[in-house]
Amino acid sequence: MGNKVLVSGATGFIAGHTIERLLAAGHEVVGTVRNPADEAKLAHFRTMPGAERLQLVAADLTDADPFSAYTDVDTIMHMASPYRPNVADAQRDLVDPAVQGTLSMLRAAAAQPRVRRVVLTSSMAAVTDEPDGRVLTEADWNNKSSLTRNPYYYSKALAECAAWKFVARERPGYDLVVINPFLVIGPSHTSAVNTSPEIFINIIKGVFPAVLSLNWGVVDVRDVADAHIAAMERPKAAGRYLCVGDAMSMAEAVALMRAEGFGAKLPRLSMTGAIGTAVMKAFSYTQPVGTGSYLRTNLGRTLRFDASKSQNELGIHYRDAATSLRDTLADLARWGHIAKSV
Ligand code: NDP
Repeated sequence: MGNKVLVSGATGFIAGHTIERLLAAGHEVVGTVRNPADEAKLAHFRTMPGAERLQLVAADLTDADPFSAYTDVDTIMHMASPYRPNVADAQRDLVDPAVQGTLSMLRAAAAQPRVRRVVLTSSMAAVTDEPDGRVLTEADWNNKSSLTRNPYYYSKALAECAAWKFVARERPGYDLVVINPFLVIGPSHTSAVNTSPEIFINIIKGVFPAVLSLNWGVVDVRDVADAHIAAMERPKAAGRYLCVGDAMSMAEAVALMRAEGFGAKLPRLSMTGAIGTAVMKAFSYTQPVGTGSYLRTNLGRTLRFDASKSQNELGIHYRDAATSLRDTLADLARWGHIAKSV
C-alpha cells in the first residue's frame, strides 16, 4: 500500500521530479499550488503515470493557516519557499513566506496524528553563505546572512532553524528530516526557468563579462528528488543531509559549454586571479543587493563539502557535475532558452 504524501510548492522544479517519483511508486499525492487554475503551470502533471492519484489544492505560504485542511497524510514534504536572489522587500518577499510557511506546515502537521514524518527542503544556504575552504558538513550553520547580505540565504537559514526549534519545543508525533541541496540543475518538467539553471543561461547569453573565480556545489534535480524519497522511505533517516554531487568552477562550466557548442557569447576574458577577483568585488556594488552580496561572499572562495551522510544513509549515488550540466544544457535548448552557435 502506498503512502499519502502532501507536497507543498508542487509547481517547483524539484517538486515536479519528486511528485513524478511518488506517483510512479504508487503513492497518493496532494500537491499544494498557489493557483490550481493555472493550467499552463500544471499541464505536465496530467500526463505523468499515476496522475489519477494526484490532487492539486490551493495554499499560499503567507495565509494564516494554509495547510491544516490537507495534513491528513502519512508524510509531508515541505518544499515551497520563494527562491529569488533579488526582491523588493527581503522581509516580506523571502523571510516571511519561508519562516511562516514552514511553521504553518509544522503546526498543521502536529495537530494530525497520522503524520509520521516531515521532510523539509532546506538548502546549502542554511549551511554557509561564504565558503571558506573548510569541509562543510551537516554540523555547519549559516549565521552570517541578513536582510541585506544574501537575503535568500537568510530566509532559508531562519526557516530551517525555526523548524528544528519547533520540533525540539513541541515534540510532535512526527520526526523531521531535512534535505540541504546545493545548486540544483538538470532537466525540467516545464518551460519555467528555475533560478539555478538561469545562471547557465546567463553565462551563455553573455551576461557575465568574464570568467570569474566562482565555484558551485552542483547536484542534479533527479538526485535531489531521490533524496527526498529516501528520506521518506528509510525509517532510520534523521537530521540534516547535505545533498550535493560535485564541485564545479565557472571556468570548468564555460569550457563544457564551449565543447557542447554554446560558445558564441561565452566570456573569453579570465578574471579568476587575485586582481580579477578584487575588480569583480568592486563591480559587485553596482549589482542588486542579492547578486552583489553573493559575489562578494563567494568570489575567490573554495567550496568543499562532505556529502557522505546522504550517500551512506539515503543511498544516493550522485551524478557527476559534467553529466548534469550536459543534460541541463540539452534541456534548456529543448525549451528554447538557449541555442547552439552555428
Ligand atoms: P522553484 O522556484 O521552482 O519552486 C518554488 C516553489 O515555491 C514554487 O512551487 C512556488 O510556487 C512556491 N512558492 C513560492 N512562494 C510561495 C508562496 N508565497 N506561497 C506558496 N508557494 C510559494 O524552486 P525549487 O524547486 O528550486 O525549490 C524548491 C525548494 O528547494 C525551495 O524550498 C528552495 O529554497 C529549495 N532549494 C532549491 C535549490 C535550487 O538550486 N533550485 C537549492 C537548495 C534548496 P509558484 O509556482 O506559485 O511560484
